[in-house]
Amino acid sequence: MLRSRVSTNRMRAVDLIRKKRDSGEHSREEIEFLISGYTRGEIPDYQIAAWLMSAWIRGLSRAETTALTQAMLHSGEVLDLSSLPGKKVDKHSTGGVGDKTSLILAPIVAAGGLIVPMLSGRGLGHTGGTLDKLESIPGFNTNLSLKEFRQVLGECGMALIGQTAEIAPADKKIYALRDATSTVENKGLICASIMSKKLAEGLDALVLDVKTGSGAFMKREEDAVGLAELMVDAGQNMGKKMVALITDMDQPLGRAAGHANEIVECIEVLNGKGPADLRELSVELSAWMFYLGEKTKSVVEGRKLAERMISNGEAREKFKQCIRLQGGDERVIDEPGLLPKAVSDVDVKSSVSGTLVATNCEQFGIALAMLGGGRETKEDWIDQAVGLEFHKKIGERVEKGEPLATIHYNSDAKLAEAKSIVMESFVIDQDSGGQAKPPRPPKPLIRRIVGS
Ligand code: URA
Repeated sequence: MLRSRVSTNRMRAVDLIRKKRDSGEHSREEIEFLISGYTRGEIPDYQIAAWLMSAWIRGLSRAETTALTQAMLHSGEVLDLSSLPGKKVDKHSTGGVGDKTSLILAPIVAAGGLIVPMLSGRGLGHTGGTLDKLESIPGFNTNLSLKEFRQVLGECGMALIGQTAEIAPADKKIYALRDATSTVENKGLICASIMSKKLAEGLDALVLDVKTGSGAFMKREEDAVGLAELMVDAGQNMGKKMVALITDMDQPLGRAAGHANEIVECIEVLNGKGPADLRELSVELSAWMFYLGEKTKSVVEGRKLAERMISNGEAREKFKQCIRLQGGDERVIDEPGLLPKAVSDVDVKSSVSGTLVATNCEQFGIALAMLGGGRETKEDWIDQAVGLEFHKKIGERVEKGEPLATIHYNSDAKLAEAKSIVMESFVIDQDSGGQAKPPRPPKPLIRRIVGS
């Protein structure tokens, strides 16, 4: 305590900005000074914004990333869930389009006997957020106090809430600045942001889903692997069991992107149906959670347990129970028609025949935001009924005039622009000289596994 006060007195934010600007490496004390000073309101936004940009451009070393993660973690409360029996396990995704696995795997894993304390986020840039999706369920309360969070966890083994004022408050402030200063896509900053929140959840183990591809923050696989290694390291250094799956985000996951329509798709998977890719990834991530949470002796057994929780209906019932306990209308599980629905829809049709070879997935997220399904500022209201439905996956044949996607919308205002973005985001290798292109095998959904 005394040591940090003495060194704090000698430090000035302006010197640390210059140090990072000139490619210097910070000590742990310097990082603690910046984070604690900013959290307490003693260092102004403009200085931290300047430091963030320097850090974005110059990069953060592994030691700086660890120090930043720990300083942000200790800016707030670290939950103690030891009074709840059983291992506490969570999953975190770095974000993508149509990425809804949390709402499938949390009920699977809680039904299988582990505790899943999930602090989730809202949509960020072009990526969707679990909280926004959940709030399309009438009445669902994502703002439980920590006391209520513990009660729901104790009763049903899973609970999903947003970041509270007590958890990693430094990240809350810094994230808003990063969003407004274009300093999001940096491995060290992303690692500290995600891991400071996750390590505050009082977990035994964490499974990371690090997205790569055109719809991910990390477009290149080697960057996704680098980010995964940093996060796995940060967790293991704090005694957590960790694994990261590097997974595909070259196209939307499943067939739906939006809010209410994604909840419908999750219910389909919990009913034993739904798109194959979404089901495969949800089962795989659940399997790793079971394995790291010591519920099963191997990932293979974890997979079997996850499949069983779906086929015997226990995961579906668990989701229903969680919705009820968090104030939501549980009838949506049996009657998805109770979820918000857009008033109009329009198909986006292919103008050529050929094979779908790629998508500009990030643009789908931007089109969705344009329809009202995303925010431009933190305060923006979002329309949970609008959405995109995709009819083709990479590698599949497309005939001229066939629908590639359907847009569900409520207002004509931005429809034309959103429609042309969606249209232009499908890359089709056109048939030539009357010759049909053969279908191409898609890239694997799970590219690599890091850690464990
Ligand atoms: N999600 C987060 O919580 N933080 C980031 O920096 C990126 C994704």
